[in-house]
Amino acid sequence: MTMQTDGIHHITAIVGNPQENVDFYAGILGLRLVKKTVNFDDPGTYHLYFGDGGGKPGTIMTFFPWPDAYRGRVGSGQVGTTTFVVPEKALPFWEERLLKYNVEYKKTIRFQEEYLEFLDPHGLQLEIVARNEGEDSGWSFGEVTPEHAIKGFGGAVLLSASPHQTSKVLTQVMGLKEIGQDGDYLRFQANSDLGNLIDIKLSPEVRGVSGVGTVHHIAWRAKSYEDHEKWQEHVKVNDFPVTEIIDRQYFNAIYFREEGQILFEIATDPPGFTRDETEDELGKSLLLPPWLEPHREQIQSHLLPAEVRILEEDK
Ligand code: ZN
Repeated sequence: MTMQTDGIHHITAIVGNPQENVDFYAGILGLRLVKKTVNFDDPGTYHLYFGDGGGKPGTIMTFFPWPDAYRGRVGSGQVGTTTFVVPEKALPFWEERLLKYNVEYKKTIRFQEEYLEFLDPHGLQLEIVARNEGEDSGWSFGEVTPEHAIKGFGGAVLLSASPHQTSKVLTQVMGLKEIGQDGDYLRFQANSDLGNLIDIKLSPEVRGVSGVGTVHHIAWRAKSYEDHEKWQEHVKVNDFPVTEIIDRQYFNAIYFREEGQILFEIATDPPGFTRDETEDELGKSLLLPPWLEPHREQIQSHLLPAEVRILEEDK
């Protein structure tokens, strides 16, 4: 059986203070906070989801903000860099914006494309690339207007403990196509126009340590619930221990660790973020799954503020 994912569904990372997280991703990067909920496995902390205007798969960056947690180390067995894609010709706007907010960046070239590389306030490695493909975000915030707004993920750079094994998993299990090599990087492509270009860095890296400033897992897209069951079977047949199907409210999920030690999830496109609030209301209030709703007061009393606000420099 061959199966092909449409690319990245979401990427989840561990960060520090939640308000700093919201100010950076909504305030500076102009993403929409599409869901404010808690970590279902640890309801004392938030799970914040950012994306494009509609919060569609391929645009969703999610965070567990743990203000008191230890700093991690970016290294092998992790997604090293998360790539956001902006419309063609929007790169100068983003250079100016990063300068305005004193976010240090450097320009790099990979596969003949120019990237702006920078860190978020908690050390997470990010980059921005401009491409024609991919639907515009349909969202604007502060001075980030729709013609400049981040469309979603361009892709990601994987730091594998075993790059050639991870390459095999991408092609043989996930159904991506290997499309080229540029120096230290192998590039893979999925059949979609967002979250579709995955690079594997070939040179060895120190081993990553999970903690603040690191990616926890990368999730790939399954089109439907039926497709998802097939994925679970497909992963099993390829000899990876895979979890049961877990209901994450906004998608169903399965998880497995590939041989390069990176935690992979496969998540369904449905039902999406309008499952429990309307598109207009996305992200405005704290949403809890039915089993946590009885504990709302107690949960809320432990959460720090995390409000979307226009930053001073944009007023
Ligand atoms: Zn996930």
